Amino acid sequence: ISLPFPPRRSLILSESSMPRRSVRVAVIGAGAAGLVAARELRREGHSPVVFERADAVGGVWVYDDAGGGSEQRPSSSCLYASLRTNLPRESMGFLDFPFHAAGDGDARRFPGHEEVRRYLEDFARRFDLLGLVRLQTEVVRVTREAAGASESWRVSYHTRTKLERREAEEEVFDAVVVCSGHYREPRFADDIAGIDAWPGKQLHSNSYRVPEPFQNQVVVVIGCGPSGTDIARDIAGVAKEVHLTNRSAPAATCDRLPLPGHDNLWLHFHSMVDRAEEDGTVVFQDGSRVKADVIMHCTGYKYSFTFLSEDSTISVDDNRVGPLYKHVFPPQLAPRLSFIGLPHKVAPFPLFELQSNWVAGVLSGRIELPSEEEMTQDVTAFYSELSARGWPRRYTHSMQSHEFEYEDWLAGQCRRERVTEWRKELFAAALRINTLGRMGSYRDEWDAGDGGGKLDQLLAQANREFARYSC
Ligand code: FAD
Repeated sequence: ISLPFPPRRSLILSESSMPRRSVRVAVIGAGAAGLVAARELRREGHSPVVFERADAVGGVWVYDDAGGGSEQRPSSSCLYASLRTNLPRESMGFLDFPFHAAGDGDARRFPGHEEVRRYLEDFARRFDLLGLVRLQTEVVRVTREAAGASESWRVSYHTRTKLERREAEEEVFDAVVVCSGHYREPRFADDIAGIDAWPGKQLHSNSYRVPEPFQNQVVVVIGCGPSGTDIARDIAGVAKEVHLTNRSAPAATCDRLPLPGHDNLWLHFHSMVDRAEEDGTVVFQDGSRVKADVIMHCTGYKYSFTFLSEDSTISVDDNRVGPLYKHVFPPQLAPRLSFIGLPHKVAPFPLFELQSNWVAGVLSGRIELPSEEEMTQDVTAFYSELSARGWPRRYTHSMQSHEFEYEDWLAGQCRRERVTEWRKELFAAALRINTLGRMGSYRDEWDAGDGGGKLDQLLAQANREFARYSC
């Protein structure tokens, strides 16, 4: 599919004509997106305040072994204990803050989750962002105060502590940047006939932490994305059998996965769960049947912005957040409301950085947006193209192979250098190498290097670029 990121007429004002505006901005969320948004906004001369409902910065990377948190101490995390990154660290980090192996941390190319949290904390400290963040402060409502040039936003929030939940407070801001993430509201496979009468246990990957509770059980894992494959492999270490369903693999068969030490791990190629029966049997579309104790849904998440529910301008329809110009600005409310971090199937941190730079530049007047009408036309054309290709709405923010086209477009708007080629190639190589046959093992195989081949050359280019930022 060719997405519409045409080279527009120059929308950037010359440096000399820059009518810099400085505004007070509420940033919702202090994960990777909120942190880099705060940095870019402040660099541009704005005054950001970052609201974070958790008690630390880092978002999903703050591991919580409670599994889903509680009403008293809501968790932002959906990570499992064994999680390692699915991208090489070099391609994961922000553009000007390399994700180096440092000190006594986890030096692996695909490090564990604690290392990513440490990196984000280092980023926050390095750019002096912690003072901008109000922890344990949840935004509950965002409403528009006035229209036109004097438009402002009333942000209602409450602060939580372990013992008390204070009354909601309010503040008025010139603009709101939503960085609240999209890994909190689980999406379940909802088309399994007979599931209500099935006696087993159903879980979503967001509450999975460790394999021990699945000792000697038969587990069906639905979904073959990074979490599904990691979790299936994790559980296979203790379970009696693990059955992994894969909708998109080419052959319609059921087979054991060729993973050393995991001869209890079955892959149902091209086959989802068809139905569940009262005696505990799960029937797959390939005709095979298994009596299972657990179904683990690794089927993704829903976008949700409850704090915006009073504003009918933005809606979420089958996981399409819209209407949004280039996944960021609602044409009718731009630039006073924006969203960072909606695209998925991407290397997120660099993309967040470019989106944030764009938002900051538009708010200051350094970068000009098209008119509301032009943005609306662009969004309509984009949606029409998706629909002509038969893509369901829920793929609207899935970048597939278009991430770098999008990033180049953003860089053009921001008048920044394009993302360098080694990043693009390293990302593509990571996708290629992460196959079902090498489920999990690709990380350590890559760590070993490829003896001076293409990968090693890309990593050498990365390190040369990083030297610019390593003082
Ligand atoms: P989040 O990290 O979710 O942060 C959002 C923040 O907003 C949270 O701290 C939350 O508490 C806060 N918040 C939400 N609502 C409110 C509110 N109303 N008021 C106040 N605060 C609020 N990316 C990679 O680059 N490499 C990987 O290997 C990788 N692996 C992943 C594995 C898993 C299991 C998951 C779920 C994601 C993975 N990702 C990976 C993607 C990851 O989501 C991004 O790296 C990135 O961290 C997302 O950042 P974010 O700021 O958009 O969202």
